[in-house]
Amino acid sequence: MNFHVLTLFPEMIIQGLNTSIMGRSLEMGTITLNAVNIRDYTANKHKKVDDYPYGGGAGMLMQAQPVYDAYLAVKDSIGEKPVRVIYLTPQGKTFCQDMAKELAKEEDLVFLCGHYEGIDERVLEEIVTDYVSIGDYVLTGGELPAMVMMDAVARMVPGVLGNQDSGENESFSNYLLEYPQYSRPEVWNGKKVPEILLSGNHAKVEEWRLEKSLEKTKAVRPELYEKWAEENSEYFVKKAKREERQRKKLLKEKLLR
Ligand code: SAM
Repeated sequence: MNFHVLTLFPEMIIQGLNTSIMGRSLEMGTITLNAVNIRDYTANKHKKVDDYPYGGGAGMLMQAQPVYDAYLAVKDSIGEKPVRVIYLTPQGKTFCQDMAKELAKEEDLVFLCGHYEGIDERVLEEIVTDYVSIGDYVLTGGELPAMVMMDAVARMVPGVLGNQDSGENESFSNYLLEYPQYSRPEVWNGKKVPEILLSGNHAKVEEWRLEKSLEKTKAVRPELYEKWAEENSEYFVKKAKREERQRKKLLKEKLLR
């Protein structure tokens, strides 16, 4: 996966992605990062990249020319094949895990980071394929949103996570939030790790984890729980049958005693 970022603050992107899993993936070459300074492409002799918006209003706007020329330079380096150009904007479609998975299939992605009051509409019309927001709030620039997206997309690229399974079973991978997890020691601050996790019974552990995921999702994100329940109605049938079997077994044991 090759990330290309058009930004006024390349150092922010480079530093931000240089640690931990992302840093290691960059070192290994599983992902590459090309942070392009839009300012390097301005035709203005004073290196200006912004100007007042026509019609008045607060703040400055990034001009079309440097953004377009920076894009052309990146496009040239990628070659003929079409590439998705993502403009980070609070006016875009909200970013989510499904989007991260879909974008991870691309070979190259271009992220365009706005600053000040945004970017001249004409260049957006010319080059942008996807308008993406990371949430309903306004930040000072697109750099943090681009980093959020690159982090989430990179985790879905084969080879980035040590164990590919850890991406498959995480929150949102199937509408559900992840179950609670525990590590050593067995008892901490008087709290014991749930017994079932020490049992070695893999099937029982999986059953418990699903139950906990369902409980948590139902409490915190009921709309996701509903979606899961709609697609997994057989789970409730099986659960009811299992509980009925257990009830009968208990009843029989009592009668035998
Ligand atoms: N005037 C713009 C508006 O009302 O939509 C907001 C501009 S914002 C101050 C500057 C830049 O930050 C935007 O061009 C965009 O790149 C980025 N940005 C701000 N909030 C964002 C969000 N929630 N998601 C993605 N990008 C965002």
